[in-house]
Amino acid sequence: MSTSTTRPARPTTLETEEHRALRATVAALGKRYGRAYFTGLVDTGGHPEALWADAAKLGLLGVNLPEEYGGGGGGIAELSLVLEELGAAGCPLLMMIVSPAICGTVIARFGTEEQKRAWLPALADGSRTMAFGITEPDAGSNAHRITTTARRDGDDWLLTGRKVFVSGVDIADATLIVGRTEDARTGSLKPCLFIVPRDAPGFGRRRIDMELQAPEKQFELTLDEVRLPADALVGDEDAGLLQLFAGLNPERIMTAAFALGMGRYALAKAVEYAKERTVWKAPIGAHQAIAHPLAQAHIEIELARLMTQKAAALYDTGDDTGAGEAANMAKYAAAEAAVKAVDQAVHTLGGNGLTSEFGLASLITAARVARIAPVSREMILNYVSHQTLGLPKSY
Ligand SMILES: Cc1cc2nc3c(=O)[nH]c(=O)nc-3n(C[C@H](O)[C@H](O)[C@H](O)COP(=O)(O)OP(=O)(O)OC[C@H]3O[C@@H](n4cnc5c(N)ncnc54)[C@H](O)[C@@H]3O)c2cc1C
Repeated sequence: MSTSTTRPARPTTLETEEHRALRATVAALGKRYGRAYFTGLVDTGGHPEALWADAAKLGLLGVNLPEEYGGGGGGIAELSLVLEELGAAGCPLLMMIVSPAICGTVIARFGTEEQKRAWLPALADGSRTMAFGITEPDAGSNAHRITTTARRDGDDWLLTGRKVFVSGVDIADATLIVGRTEDARTGSLKPCLFIVPRDAPGFGRRRIDMELQAPEKQFELTLDEVRLPADALVGDEDAGLLQLFAGLNPERIMTAAFALGMGRYALAKAVEYAKERTVWKAPIGAHQAIAHPLAQAHIEIELARLMTQKAAALYDTGDDTGAGEAANMAKYAAAEAAVKAVDQAVHTLGGNGLTSEFGLASLITAARVARIAPVSREMILNYVSHQTLGLPKSY
């Protein structure tokens, strides 16, 4: 085999020069803030407003939103890359999963011209944020069982129900709530999406005490006949699941990116430590019992990133069905990779893995979030069993 002069000097990747430049921009921003910024916010009960504003100024928050509404004209590929890099720097912005990714996408794809003008430029420049509420206490993983119900009252809607574990409702200007309308013809219920302003009368919230060290908090919500104008409904009342999944697939891809960033952050800390820490003749990283699991964690993060890139590429080219399967698989793979990377990172540091000084132990809980939310590991395995492999259902 001859040595080709046309072979690229560096390995080819699935990412363009623009993507690499975007990664570098985000990494530089992340480095300016870093883990210490987040830990400080957790200690003081603060929110990552400064990082949010700086990310917006650089055009990173709305990178996926249409240019005509102040966005960057990119897609979920670019937005997920931003979140991954911030996570790798130790300061992931959880609300990116909901505000520009779910809510921005749904409004851009299905909103009216007025809704687009009211929300998209503000989501992109960071001046407004939107939360997203679908989970219910009695429905959980089975979103088909949600009971939050919208009924018409003249031109208005009245929304009644309960939600749980909804992130960032206190800092979001509004929450995109998944409700159902009663279908007069069939008597069955259909999902539809409503923008509920934070201070709407009848919209109550109670903070849930979580054993998570993160600036963003989770809330239980009550909706007691919340009166909403006709234009609070986003999209078609009859569009149902298609419209909902236009938002849920980006959510899965973004959660995968969140997990990848966290896994990379933990792994980098462990590698740095393993190169230095010496209790025998050589640094602990020379022992294969330490080196191999770290190498495995790296491989698994890389593999999960490939799947995340595939899911984002399918979504951005408009293949909602293909993206659905790939987004589920990416979220599964990235969450598992992150859980494993964090576990191994903590172990690599020995006793220091559990100290506040090194700050890795809290990631054990944080990494589990990606395994549970927005759709659990088991529900993804169910999806692949039934949808991909055609196996029969037990439930
Ligand atoms: C930190 C955090 C932030 C969140 N943010 C939001 C948010 O912003 N908005 C929002 O709407 N929701 C949010 N959630 C909720 C999250 O999406 C749900 O927790 C998740 O969908 C699982 O629902 P559940 O907690 O009710 O678990 P359950 O549905 O009660 O499931 C419990 C366990 O049973 C398993 N299980 C259930 N059914 C099956 C089955 N058929 N086969 C096999 N196993 C099964 C599950 O995998 C899981 O392990 C958040 C959750 C967390 C932890």
